[in-house]
Amino acid sequence: MNLYDLAPAQLEQVLGEIVSPPFRVKQIEEWMHVRGAASFEAMTNLPRDVRAALAERFTISFPEVLTRTEPAQDGSQKYLFRLHDGQRIESVYMPMGERTSVCLSSQAGCAVGCTFCVTGFFGPGRNIAPSEMLGQFFTIRSEKQIPADHMNVVFMGMGEPLLNFENLVTTLDVLYRSMSPRRVTVSTSGIIPGIDDLARLERRPNLAVSINAPDRKRREEIMPITAKYPLDELMASLRRFPLEKGRDLTIEYVLLAGYNDAPRDAVALAKLIRGTHAKVNAIPFNPDPNLPEWMKRPGDAAIDRFVDTLVQNGVRVTVRRSKGREIAAACGQLRGKEIAKSRATAGRPLRTASGPASEADSRR
Ligand code: SAH
Ligand code: SF4
Repeated sequence: MNLYDLAPAQLEQVLGEIVSPPFRVKQIEEWMHVRGAASFEAMTNLPRDVRAALAERFTISFPEVLTRTEPAQDGSQKYLFRLHDGQRIESVYMPMGERTSVCLSSQAGCAVGCTFCVTGFFGPGRNIAPSEMLGQFFTIRSEKQIPADHMNVVFMGMGEPLLNFENLVTTLDVLYRSMSPRRVTVSTSGIIPGIDDLARLERRPNLAVSINAPDRKRREEIMPITAKYPLDELMASLRRFPLEKGRDLTIEYVLLAGYNDAPRDAVALAKLIRGTHAKVNAIPFNPDPNLPEWMKRPGDAAIDRFVDTLVQNGVRVTVRRSKGREIAAACGQLRGKEIAKSRATAGRPLRTASGPASEADSRR
């Protein structure tokens, strides 16, 4: 058993059966959940025989780092991890002055199938265990020597966190040992039952929701999950989501040139989110060879027009503009390159779908 798959209370219970006195149990829990120890050996204030007894019965292990990209201009770096069964997941390190954000994956693929997303393009992958989510976090935190009180965590990497709910909650419980829930954000494509489950948690992370289109029709085109969880019901679930004082929802909106980036789309978006206490995070589309050709990143002028229109309509908005932020918005692309390479050598065609280019044109 990998002890990093257990929440703090479960861990203490399991350890309590073989370790005494109780303060030793506390010490081990702290070594792991607060300090992120990657081996029993590292727990230097434990007697040798206790460390040996632990190592005999349990493991504590994290996924292995396969590659790190060169730092982008703003210092951001992508990490590719290999899981024990050979699956690959990505994380992103994003230094931002005083604070550092780490973007984590929650699944080794994604079944939601958004058409603008590389992770969606490659299809479903298994749920990842708490140890695999925490491994991304602790590995990057220790490699970059980030003080715990400078960390932000966002679940915006590969996968849909609310479709891996139980493991997500275990992971959150561990993260909260070294950081406040205010510093953690979970991003969802709009899984309504998951949002309601999140609402019932005593300690809630921040909630970000990928809306990406100003109306049901277009949202269904690029996010087929809309057929299952309709946009109006999704908006209703956001209106009832309990927010502590000083907290906001985040609405993510991927900007696709000529498709959803016109000023009238901004007006429609402002109307859609009225009453949700949300700020908008506009994310210029990040192109990739595996994605439909008609999908393009808008030019800077179009992005500015969109953002200005939102502001004029009373919406608070941030744009993810720098290179590093943009690579972060496109998790799955590094793994995608690898899969593409291996498929190319196997002689299988890569592209399976091309988009409604003429339809997109007609919207302008
Ligand atoms: N499954 C969750 C979290 C992972 S996706 C969700 O969908 O919210 C994280 C963010 O990346 C989402 O807002 C998604 O819309 C955005 N994204 C995905 N592919 C992108 C691309 N090619 N360019 C820009 N943003 C993208
Ligand atoms: Fe899955 Fe999010 Fe990508 Fe959609 S955008 S396919 S929900 S990871």
